[in-house]
Amino acid sequence: MQETAFGELHADEQLVHDFEMQRARDEVRLREILDSYPDKNNIDPDTLPSETWGLLAWEFMDLGLRDRILAGMFRHSLARAKKAMPIYEQSLAYVDVCPELFESMEQLVQIPVLVKDGLHGFRQKVRSNPSLLRPTDKAVLMTPYLSGGTGIDNQTVGKSTPTWISERDLERESLALAFRCFLPGGFSKAMKFMNFYNLAHKGGEEIKRAINHLGAQVFLPRRPEDSVEQCLEYMDLFGITALAAVPQSPRDKKGAPKGGAVSFDDLYARKAELFGSKGTVKSAFVTGFAIPESVINLAQRNSLNLFSTWGASEAIPGATSTVLGPPTRICKYNNQHLLYFPHYLAVMDLTGAQPRFCQPGEEGLLLVTTIARDGTLFINYAIGDRATVISNHCECGRTTPVIGKIRREDNPGELSSGGCRYA
Ligand SMILES: [Zn+2]
Repeated sequence: MQETAFGELHADEQLVHDFEMQRARDEVRLREILDSYPDKNNIDPDTLPSETWGLLAWEFMDLGLRDRILAGMFRHSLARAKKAMPIYEQSLAYVDVCPELFESMEQLVQIPVLVKDGLHGFRQKVRSNPSLLRPTDKAVLMTPYLSGGTGIDNQTVGKSTPTWISERDLERESLALAFRCFLPGGFSKAMKFMNFYNLAHKGGEEIKRAINHLGAQVFLPRRPEDSVEQCLEYMDLFGITALAAVPQSPRDKKGAPKGGAVSFDDLYARKAELFGSKGTVKSAFVTGFAIPESVINLAQRNSLNLFSTWGASEAIPGATSTVLGPPTRICKYNNQHLLYFPHYLAVMDLTGAQPRFCQPGEEGLLLVTTIARDGTLFINYAIGDRATVISNHCECGRTTPVIGKIRREDNPGELSSGGCRYA
């Protein structure tokens, strides 16, 4: 612990203090924004300032009130999707979808599930015409960020599809990442940050913007050609105090690292003394895959602040774990609170005749729904991840469910068969 410019507060206490101040300010600001609308249950998300999506107050809001606000916004997005997104406009399954009847996010179970593969999947169509995923009503510059390329067979693996993203979309998502993921994760203004994610990917780009929103002192990007040893040298040279990295490098069949990434594990294995209470690196944002038990254990041993966020090129952020909060909270490491606005993540069981929301203890598919976006609107999109609902209650005070055990679907065929589907 070190003394801060404020004298009486230690570093961690200062972080908690800053977080509580921000939360209080955000509650006032969110109320002001919502009160500026004649009917807060019928807001067109397109009309809201980008700062709205970075407000911490969303997570702590009354459940019923939040659900009505979300449903009101989604009514607008659903109507727009039917009109301006070719993929829904041309869908037979969407003919009977009536946006005006949508009053609660619980009704998502009545909307067709969007799948990429199988008979009703969009992959093949979109591969030959990527504009099918681009809304026709926005004449702004958009970047087609390509997906990771998960698939079900030789025809689909590695065949990426685009998510069209505008400049304003990047702003919306990076504000949410900064103030609703990084701030509760203990990132601060004083930090000197090193980024190990690829800046050509949407996640890397948004991490950079989010670090800028927080007002950090240094943003040091790892160049693709930098080796682990060079990275450690630069971390030392620039006095890096926080970083973002994947937990472990993906391995090829022989166990060698592939893809040229430098992971948290690679860095720690070479120079453990750099991390935690005795080292200079105090905080780590580790995401991409589940944080392994070994990394969690060493974070606990060394008092390293460690947290994770669920995100994909299709939607960032969907859920996050925390560093700040009561020790009894459950939203730590791989247990993450769902974050509503600018998107909506749901864990649904699709094995029955009708999809249904999973209850605590149950595992289901993660479905992504975008609420506020200029670019590609995803609705009930089965992105290819599974998750378990851990609890609907947490002592940190957030009122959203905590999910965990997030993993890639190992039987992707399930993503493309049975039930009520997009067509
Ligand atoms: Zn919590």
